[in-house]
Amino acid sequence: MHLSLHDRSTLFDLLPIGAYRSDARGTIVQLNAALLRINGYASEAECLADAKVIGAESYVQPGRRQQFITLLEANGHVTDFVSETYRLKTGEHIWVREHAHLVRDAEGKILYIEGTIEDITQERKASLTLQNSENLLRNVLETIPDRVWLKDVNGVHLACNAAYADHLGTAAARVTGTDDVFWFGEELANTFRQTDLMTIQAGKTLRFEGPMHSPMHADATIYEVIKTPMVDAYNTTIGVLGMARDIHERKKAEALLRDTSEQLELALMSADLGRWDHDLTIEKGYHLDERSCAMLGRDASDSNKGRAWGHLIHPQDLPGTLEAMRAHLSGTVPAYEAEYRARHSDGHWVWMSNRGKVVQFDQHGHPLRMVGTLMNISKRKEVEGELLKTQADLKATLNSVAHLAFHDALTGLPNRRLLNDRLETALSASQRQKKHGALLFLDLDKFKQLNDNFGHDIGDLLLQQVALRLLQCVREVDTVARLGGDEFVVLIQNLSINTESARSHASTVSAKILSCLNQAFVLEGTAHTITPSIGATVFLGHVIAAAEVLKQADQAMYDAKAKGRNTLCFYEKIGA
Ligand code: GH3
Ligand code: MG
Repeated sequence: MHLSLHDRSTLFDLLPIGAYRSDARGTIVQLNAALLRINGYASEAECLADAKVIGAESYVQPGRRQQFITLLEANGHVTDFVSETYRLKTGEHIWVREHAHLVRDAEGKILYIEGTIEDITQERKASLTLQNSENLLRNVLETIPDRVWLKDVNGVHLACNAAYADHLGTAAARVTGTDDVFWFGEELANTFRQTDLMTIQAGKTLRFEGPMHSPMHADATIYEVIKTPMVDAYNTTIGVLGMARDIHERKKAEALLRDTSEQLELALMSADLGRWDHDLTIEKGYHLDERSCAMLGRDASDSNKGRAWGHLIHPQDLPGTLEAMRAHLSGTVPAYEAEYRARHSDGHWVWMSNRGKVVQFDQHGHPLRMVGTLMNISKRKEVEGELLKTQADLKATLNSVAHLAFHDALTGLPNRRLLNDRLETALSASQRQKKHGALLFLDLDKFKQLNDNFGHDIGDLLLQQVALRLLQCVREVDTVARLGGDEFVVLIQNLSINTESARSHASTVSAKILSCLNQAFVLEGTAHTITPSIGATVFLGHVIAAAEVLKQADQAMYDAKAKGRNTLCFYEKIGA
């Protein structure tokens, strides 16, 4: 079948990419609608009225037109010629991909140049974004202090971060392609293989504790090793992801607790995050993305539906959640963080960790819109399984891992590791600015009794409330951390140059904390009281090392306990 001339020109005009025919000198004699569109014109008439000429010099890079002509003359055609050009009507920069060829007559004289032009601006943007997020992902992996590695089902390493490679005494690139036998020998490799197989068989994340042997050195440290089976998009297991964290310090602290039956609750949750977006100006302005919907067993097609969120939350958790939300909306705390049970569509409750922030205010400073993330903390998630799916999921998941590495899971506060970092930074800032800082060490009084009388869950709720109140007592620049158990630390910065004024400021903050924590806590409908003993010390520059500052405040806290509790004591130098 032959197309008529009319059909052909219709087809030419309907092509989704720009197409043209020009004479040997490059003057365009025919072009299609898509090429007009690329140049910003709705119609040929509009283009003609503009008195600009399509096909004239439109490349941003000087000499690019000549390169095109040279290639065309040399080869008779040009393919995949990618350049930055101007959109004729607006002068806006765009990226295009061109193909062209010469049409010659029987004597070889050039009759026409025919070519296509495709706008690939979006494609380029997407690939740049992808590249950026890949870099970001790599950076996140590298900044995680935990060892992270990925092995295929045969135990061959596919990837790892620098912390893991260090442990093997080599570089990450040298680990890829090797197996455990190579690094650890048959016997040890077998034990690793067993836990890998257990994980694959279980089809879910498993947690192990023990030493991690290194070919480099004997290591008595205890590690928490988390292994997660990795599946591809078809749910086929493709390997095992491992993460190892040094828990030596935590184990030591736990051993010091008199009642060993009460273990610190470990909440290292590898999780995939869902997003939500809350338009605060309208009723039912709460939107969940598809993954949040999935966590709650709701149809993905529901994801664009506005809704109220209060009814999703367990009534017992609602007051705490509302309080956290109010604290953020009123500007008292820099971010909204809450953990609560949310209703799954099939009726059961799913524990969620919710973090969010106001991202838009009106001209009077009233919040208009919040966005945030939801994490299912009911069970451990296949963190890197998500990594293999989409780039966006990858970023969100790793952010959550990084967060867990530096925060206490129960209260969301910075953990000991992050506090140490902040304290080091505070000492340097104090040195630079010649201003004092202060460290308050808090330990709750007779907290064990509360646990014994009302249960560990009530104890946990109280610790969360204490964390919220402490945040309300300090400024945004200050740090509230939980060291573990019932121990909290408040780091105050930017105090006076004068030691006495700095001490007086620290006393004022401590008095505020004492009074704030002395107010009753309503937990599951019952009022409970708790008091803290506070030890304080002030520092100036690097005169004393960070660990020593912490020790001083700890010692002062013991003095406060000895003085009868619910009070503040400053660290006094022996003999001072
Ligand atoms: P003191 O006044 O001397 O501080 O007495 P205390 O009862 O508060 O005892 P201490 O500070 O030595 O111990 C804190 C207790 O906190 C020990 C443990 O039973 C409990 N605990 C530790 N971690 C957690 C936790 O995550 N949740 C709960 N509910 N209790 C914890
Ligand atoms: Mg205590």
